[in-house]
Amino acid sequence: MRRKLIAGNWKMHNTLPEARALMHGIRERLDTSRAVDVAVFPPYTLLYPMGKEIAGTPIQLGGQNCHYERKGAFTGEISPAMLVAAGCTCVLVGHSERRHIFAEGGDLLSRKVTAALDAGLHVIYCVGEKLEQRQAGQTEHVIGRQCSEAIHAELDASRITLAYEPVWAIGTGHNATPEQAQAAHQFLRSRIETVFGPHVAAQMRIVYGGSVKSSNAAGLLAQPDVDGALVGGACLDAAEFAAIMAAAAAGSAGVLAR
Ligand code: PEP
Repeated sequence: MRRKLIAGNWKMHNTLPEARALMHGIRERLDTSRAVDVAVFPPYTLLYPMGKEIAGTPIQLGGQNCHYERKGAFTGEISPAMLVAAGCTCVLVGHSERRHIFAEGGDLLSRKVTAALDAGLHVIYCVGEKLEQRQAGQTEHVIGRQCSEAIHAELDASRITLAYEPVWAIGTGHNATPEQAQAAHQFLRSRIETVFGPHVAAQMRIVYGGSVKSSNAAGLLAQPDVDGALVGGACLDAAEFAAIMAAAAAGSAGVLAR
């Protein structure tokens, strides 16, 4: 059975005092008896102090991005090895804000995925279509292409999670319906089966991102192929984030009880 993952992408938010307060609130509400994995992705400047804040808890620390080289003349960049040294176990690659604001394309993202895995990180690789692509019936074409640009059979699939994040749902308050999310996740799982075979496809987590909040989490997380959530805005509020974790835990308990 796939454990659900609730991941909080802090984006470019929080000074150190704000981050400490948020993390304190998350820790206070963390229910370690529940079978849910939790990860936070603070900005780079907060990685070391947040690593200290989560010491002794099961919360994982991740980077929001990385470069593909180990080191070198790449002003403003962070290498996968630096993330590991800062205490990270995971990294986001291909977030839609990287793709669309910073023009990161398939070739670059493929190199990042490989470099991050080589450094020992777990990669959350994000894919998602724009609104006009969905309206033109191109969702599967787009997310299938994004998937195959960076995910191939030579990679260690046990350290890859996919995130389906429709661009039109990110930060807009308009989440995909549970049915839309399930259809996209089922399609992505079929692509993973084509690349790695049925065993890996059954094991790989595919999380949903796009305006997840406490009021819609349960419906999305109840879908059979939705294995967690990548949460942006709502993860900046400890009570909201905790409610999403609780929704995931309740769903997992339901599955275990069946
Ligand atoms: C995200 O940043 O990955 C995200 C899904 O943001 P939001 O939850 O705010 O839509």
